[in-house]
Amino acid sequence: MSDTVETPRTNFIRQIIEADLAAGKHARIVTRFPPEPNGYLHIGHAKSIVLNFGLAQTFGGTCNLRFDDTNPHKENVEFVDSIKADVRWLGFDWGDRVYFASDYFEQLYAFAIELIEKRLAYVCDLNAEETRSYRGTLTEPGRDSPYRDRTVEENLDLFKRMRAGEFPDGARTLRARIDMASPNINLRDPVLYRIKHGVVHHQTGSAWCLYPTYDYTHPISDALEGITHSLCTLEFEDHRPLYDWCVNNVSVPCKPRQIEFSRLNLEYTVMSKRRLTELVGERHVHGWDDPRMPTVAGLRRRGYTPGAIRDFCERVGVTKSDNLVEMALLESTIRDDLDATAPRRMAVLRPLKVVITNYPEGRTESIEARNHPKDETLGLRAVPFGRELYIDRTDFEEIPPKGFKRLIPGGEVRLRNAYVIRCEEVVKDADGEIVELRVSADLDTLGRNPEDRKVKGVIHWVSADHGVRAEVRLYDRLFRVAVPGAGGADFRTDINPDSLQILSDAVLEPALQGAEAGTRFQFEREGYFVVDTDSTPERPVFNLTVGLRDTWGKSRS
Ligand code: ATP
Ligand code: MG
Repeated sequence: MSDTVETPRTNFIRQIIEADLAAGKHARIVTRFPPEPNGYLHIGHAKSIVLNFGLAQTFGGTCNLRFDDTNPHKENVEFVDSIKADVRWLGFDWGDRVYFASDYFEQLYAFAIELIEKRLAYVCDLNAEETRSYRGTLTEPGRDSPYRDRTVEENLDLFKRMRAGEFPDGARTLRARIDMASPNINLRDPVLYRIKHGVVHHQTGSAWCLYPTYDYTHPISDALEGITHSLCTLEFEDHRPLYDWCVNNVSVPCKPRQIEFSRLNLEYTVMSKRRLTELVGERHVHGWDDPRMPTVAGLRRRGYTPGAIRDFCERVGVTKSDNLVEMALLESTIRDDLDATAPRRMAVLRPLKVVITNYPEGRTESIEARNHPKDETLGLRAVPFGRELYIDRTDFEEIPPKGFKRLIPGGEVRLRNAYVIRCEEVVKDADGEIVELRVSADLDTLGRNPEDRKVKGVIHWVSADHGVRAEVRLYDRLFRVAVPGAGGADFRTDINPDSLQILSDAVLEPALQGAEAGTRFQFEREGYFVVDTDSTPERPVFNLTVGLRDTWGKSRS
């Protein structure tokens, strides 16, 4: 864990808001979560959601959901819908305050006219290449565009004709008239509008061929919505003077305050939407909701609960220092949640047949088992027991390593919730593969220990006659290294080729049959699992959410 984790709940943004409210600067706070609908939300967005909606809740204010949709060719309605579903699933409610920056296109245009009239904006005929070369560098000032001193009349005329579609893409832009010598490059006459023909915007259709830039749209959208505190990530710190310039130079009803915090970075994954889009598009994963993805949809399908994700966001805290959060923190958050809430079940992932030679053929016993070792309110269930069972292959060793406490030839082990058995015979096929164990049961050991000896190991099992066949998907980290693509390498070369392992003949105790997609369980001794959306009544599919303890990098013992 990085050294920047704070005690949950208090942070510098909260303190700013408390001070603003105490000083009477605002009667109520208004925040917003402003995603661009060009991908699914990821866990970094969750941090921003929890922060913005959480602050509004804490201080009795409101939080808007606003789609920052100024870049139509990468955006679409599928993304809009997925974002709404994910915010709702995380437990937040924007009421009737869902907005689109494109709702403000007409107003933004009118403010641009206002800027032109104040000689604070001009139509520039430099192309993209020329604009870049005029901009200067970090060490050299820029040069004024030759079009900078056009008259108000000429600018108004050209800008209106830009809107009317008279000029091709890239022929002209509208630029703010600020300062080409500013040490802050963002203030060197930034572009406010570009021409884009032929794109169909998911909200405004073909109504516009003129699109405002993010840097111009964002502050004005905030101001139009009466946002008091506009929270964004640190890379926008250098844009703040431009943010302030925009709200100070047009006739908006309020002046929101931009405050930056550090973005969430998580080990063993990538978070930029560009990279996530590539993972999906190039089929390195099976979609945006692939359980290996750091997306909210992926985490949901993986079995994460909204509460665990909110808790994780609280635990990482809000600071201004860059940090890389350990995957182990995310995993321990869901483990804590599921340890307390998930019913226990038995599932044999790699089945090995066991025949109890002294148990009557055809007999079935119903054994009562607790659904949770600590929480009695979760009740009991019946688990059928019979002469033929499955145990996990890894729970038997012919030549046991040191310290092995499970089943060995001639040795004893307890079947969880049932009897103590002794391995009498190992049956192999022609290739020498173990195909069956023949064992005897001590029939006096149901619910009590043998008196004359200690049996240390306990293993889980499923009745062969009653077991339900299932597919179980085990997931490992999507990347082999903590920071994929570090040092400029292609992040794809760091993909873990073994991040998905499919066990196709797992056997479940019958109480797991028919569980609905999204239902979570602990498979005893294995980990936490969730019913996948690919499940059918005939063939359940389970995803590994997280193991029982942090065993990553350590071998199974
Ligand atoms: P990405 O870089 O992943 O494409 P983005 O910032 O372009 O993300 P937006 O849709 O614009 O994505 O983000 C919506 C909000 O979520 C913004 O306020 C942004 O600052 C915030 N956000 C995005 N990524 C993170 C992150 N990793 N940690 C915290 N907040 C984030
Ligand atoms: Mg963005």
